[in-house]
Amino acid sequence: MQISQEFDSGNIEVIDASRHDDIRLQIRRDEQSGFYQWFHFRLTGAKGLPCRLTITNAAGAAYPDGFRNYRVLVSYDRQEWRRHDTSLNGGELSIAVTPEQDSVYFAYFIPYSMERHHDLIARALQSPMCSHQNLGATLDGQDLDLLKLTAASSSAKRRCWIIARQHPGESMAQWWMEGCIEKLLDPEDPLSQQLLRDNEIYLVANMNPDGSRRGHLRTNAAGRNLNREWESPSMKASPEVYLVKQAMLATGVDFFLDVHGDESLPYCFIAGTEGLANWSEQDQARLDFYRGRLAELNPDFQTEKGYPPKPRGTANLTMSTAQTAHLHSCLAMTLEMPFKDTTATPDPVYGWSTQRCKTLAHSCLQAMADYLASDVY
Ligand SMILES: [Zn+2]
Repeated sequence: MQISQEFDSGNIEVIDASRHDDIRLQIRRDEQSGFYQWFHFRLTGAKGLPCRLTITNAAGAAYPDGFRNYRVLVSYDRQEWRRHDTSLNGGELSIAVTPEQDSVYFAYFIPYSMERHHDLIARALQSPMCSHQNLGATLDGQDLDLLKLTAASSSAKRRCWIIARQHPGESMAQWWMEGCIEKLLDPEDPLSQQLLRDNEIYLVANMNPDGSRRGHLRTNAAGRNLNREWESPSMKASPEVYLVKQAMLATGVDFFLDVHGDESLPYCFIAGTEGLANWSEQDQARLDFYRGRLAELNPDFQTEKGYPPKPRGTANLTMSTAQTAHLHSCLAMTLEMPFKDTTATPDPVYGWSTQRCKTLAHSCLQAMADYLASDVY
C-alpha cells in the first residue's frame, strides 16, 4: 500500500502508512508561506481493504471551517470525481473508504492540471476569433497566457477582462474559465457572436501557474498571495500580477471579473468594491444590476449570503477588484464558488461540480451582455 503525490498539483505528506486502517497524513504548506488546505494524492495497493485516512493537521488549515460539512472528492479514472463522506473530529479530517480498484485519487476539489491548461489554450487558438500573448515568465519559468477574444466589426469595443485562479487551490475557477471559453468560441452561439462583435474579451485562464503545479492553496512560488499584490506588484515577487496589471493598463478596462472559490461558504456569490472612497450610488446600481441579473439566470447563484460589504473608505487596494475599479473606474467584482456545495441547490453525488462551474460561466456571460446593454452601464 502506497500514498503518492508526485504529479501536477499533488499535495500530501505521509506520517504513517503502515496500517490501512490508520493512515496518518498531513497537508504540506505553500512554499515560503503558512497557508495550506489544498490536498491531492493517490492511494495504491489497497483494493478491497477497509482504509481509514486521517489528515491530522486540518485544524491549522487556512480556513478550518472549510472542512466542516465538507465531503472529499474521490476518483478512480481521474475524469469522474464523486463526493465521499468525510468526518471532522478533534481537528482531524477522516475518510473511511474501501477502494474498489488498485488505484484511487483523493482531492480537495476536482484538479485542473497545467497540462489541461495548455490543452485549453491550444484548443481556444484554433478559433479565428482568438489570439494569444505570452505576457512573460513566472518565477518557475512557466508562461503567463493571455487570450484575446473578439470578432471583426466596425463598432467601438468595450474591453472586458476576466481572470481566474489567483489562488491556485481554487481549481473551480479554471473549470469556470473552461466553460467561459467554450461558450465564447462556440460559432453556433448567438450570444457569444454578439459579445465578440461588441467587445474585446481578455482572459487570463490561470493567474498562478506555479502555485497550481506545486499544489499550493493560495500563493505563488515565492509564497505571495497574488490577490494582495495589486497595489505594488514586482517582477521579483509577483510577476503574474505585475504583467497582467501592465497589460490591463495598456488596453483599458470597462468590465472586470476575478473568479475564485470560497472554502467555507456553501454559496455562489459576488463581492464588490463598496469600500472605495468614491463609491457612488451609480456604482452600487451597477453591482446590483449584475448580481440581480445573474441570480435570475442561474439558481446556483444567490445574493443573500456572501462577504459583508466593506464600509466606504476601507477598500483594500492590494486586491485585484479594488485596484482595478480604482484605476479604471469600472464595475469590478469577485465571483466566489463553493468547495462544498450550494445550500439551496445541493447535489449529493457530485456536490459543486465542474459542469456547474461551466454552466455558471455561461450565465455570467449572459449577465455581462445584459449589463453592458443596460441603462446603468
Ligand atoms: Zn480566492
